[in-house]
Amino acid sequence: MNMKFFIRTYGCQMNESDSERIAWLLTRRGYKRTSDETEADLIILNTCAVRDSAERKVWGKLGRLKDLKRRKPDLLIAVGGCMAQSYGEEIIRRFPHVDLVFGTRSFVKLPDLIDERLSAGRAVVDLSESSPFQFTPQLRGNGIKAWVNISTGCDNFCSYCIVPYVRGRERHRPVDEILGEIEGLAREGYKEITLLGQNVNSYRWKDVSFSELLRMANEIGGIERIRFITSHPKDVPDDLIEAMAELEKVCEHLHLPAQSGANSILRRMNRRYTRERYLDIVRKLRREIPHAAITSDFIVGFPGESEEDFEETLSLVEEVRFDYAFCYRYSDRPGTKAASMEGKIPEHLKRRRLERLIDLTKRIALEKNSDLLGDVVEVLVEDVNPKVKGELMGRTRTNKIVFFRGNKDMIGSTLKVRITEASYWFLKGEIHGDPRFLDQSGR
Ligand code: SAM
Ligand code: SF4
Repeated sequence: MNMKFFIRTYGCQMNESDSERIAWLLTRRGYKRTSDETEADLIILNTCAVRDSAERKVWGKLGRLKDLKRRKPDLLIAVGGCMAQSYGEEIIRRFPHVDLVFGTRSFVKLPDLIDERLSAGRAVVDLSESSPFQFTPQLRGNGIKAWVNISTGCDNFCSYCIVPYVRGRERHRPVDEILGEIEGLAREGYKEITLLGQNVNSYRWKDVSFSELLRMANEIGGIERIRFITSHPKDVPDDLIEAMAELEKVCEHLHLPAQSGANSILRRMNRRYTRERYLDIVRKLRREIPHAAITSDFIVGFPGESEEDFEETLSLVEEVRFDYAFCYRYSDRPGTKAASMEGKIPEHLKRRRLERLIDLTKRIALEKNSDLLGDVVEVLVEDVNPKVKGELMGRTRTNKIVFFRGNKDMIGSTLKVRITEASYWFLKGEIHGDPRFLDQSGR
């Protein structure tokens, strides 16, 4: 079969990881991947439902694909992921040119579903839960860094969030399977792994906790860096901070979504921690690892958020001084608890709060990055800088993006870079020392 497929991924790292699995499943069946949508025989949209804005992008894209389908009647269009799970048949009703809808737990069957679509001659919708479970291999990108799923789904039911509904109950992956996958990646030459889950630090497999999993992964030779995302503040025991401080491969970065700085809002969000507990974690982390980067997510305009509540979010940001924060306007998600809460905030007010919060987080991010001017940092080189010829792109252990001049042979190595320029979202620098005399680990 010479069918070519194109995948467009929307949303979070979990979706990116799922897309790599879908690509693996299809190439195993003889399909070829293309990065050019117009030459594809099969277009897959792997969608996100976490905010209305993410959904609007997909609805718009589906509208535009109608023309392409008219010109290429044999083109197959498949919609998967969180929106597919949430809307199901409705996608076909709204966009009859869609051929296939598959859910977050049925993508393992995608090659069979395509065959079914071709033989049945009508649209196929499958939102069932597949067996075997979805931790199939992945067709990964650049051979340097890789996602490693340790769990799927979520049981936390934050009142604003659709994830538990579209991704199902939280399930943890057997520890041997995770370690086996990391060993395989190390053999293939991967340098960095990111343990992935909606709430990684709630991981447990029999008597192995998340901190213990980190300790086991740290023993695997060849891997230089271990990251993990996302952590929930309700599940950050002291032993996790100790493990981060002790284990040389675990990077000094904690993404710890706070969502709000006001206790009354955190309660209504069902987050199960207080502002004080959050600050306590930050203090402990900074005591153990003073240079650790802390990043966060915030939602502004949650139902009932008063001006004072919002000021508390700003003051939390001032107090913690996050290295970076992703800030969102609250978006009603049908079926969630918050969608039926009173005290909805008008859009213009949400926008104004979002602007103020973004301005503040950017100012602090710039100040924090400027603190690094003149420092020599360890950078794992990931790729070229697609925007500037002759420049490379890498990341520090604290997950900051660094651009610097270098040649393509350096991709995959760890170098020392002196920081010469800072913006709120990236750093610029120059290689420190003569890279010819650096060994693979950059020392
Ligand atoms: N499990 C992760 C967590 O708890 O942080 C990621 C969840 S979600 C994919 C990523 C972020 O989207 C959340 O941290 C939250 O800030 C934001 N988010 C989720 N639901 C939202 C909603 N209804 N409106 C606006 N932002 C939302
Ligand atoms: Fe959504 Fe909360 Fe689960 Fe994160 S922890 S996926 S925000 S319900």
